[in-house]
Amino acid sequence: MSQQHTEQNIPKVGYVLSCIDRRFVEVTRRTFEALTGLGGTDYYHEAFAGGALGEPPPVNGARYVYTRSFEGDKDINLVAMCWQAHIDHCGGLPGESDSVIRARFQSRIDSRFLQSAFPRVQTHIFLLASLNSEGQPVVEQLFPN
Ligand SMILES: [Zn+2]
Repeated sequence: MSQQHTEQNIPKVGYVLSCIDRRFVEVTRRTFEALTGLGGTDYYHEAFAGGALGEPPPVNGARYVYTRSFEGDKDINLVAMCWQAHIDHCGGLPGESDSVIRARFQSRIDSRFLQSAFPRVQTHIFLLASLNSEGQPVVEQLFPN
C-alpha cells in the first residue's frame, strides 16, 4: 500500500491572515472557528502588520497551503480562507483613518483579488475588527458587493 492520502483521510483545514495587532487576534480566531466549525488546531494562521490590506498582500503562506491542497500529492483539504484587517489604528497602515481602511478593505473584497488568487477554496471570509463602545474587540463580517 502506498502512503497516498485518500479523500476520506485528508484533514479539512483553514487559513487565516490577520494583522499582528494583539488586540484583535483572539476575537478573529474565535469568529473564524465559529463560522467554519474548525477547531483551534485545524487551521494555519499568518499575521502581518496591516493584515489583508498589506501592499502587496503577504500571501506566501497562503500560497503554500493552497498548493498543498490543490496541486500535486494533496495532503490537506483547504476549505476556508479568512482575510482580516482592522480599524482603531493599525500600525501597518500608518495615517489611514477608519473610513479609509474600511473603504479600502471593501474595495479589495469587491475586486475579487484574493478570491481569484485562490479560486478553488469554497469559502472566503472577510473580517473587519474594531473596538466597540466599551473598548472590547469585536469583528464584523464583510461580503463582496
Ligand atoms: Zn494592524
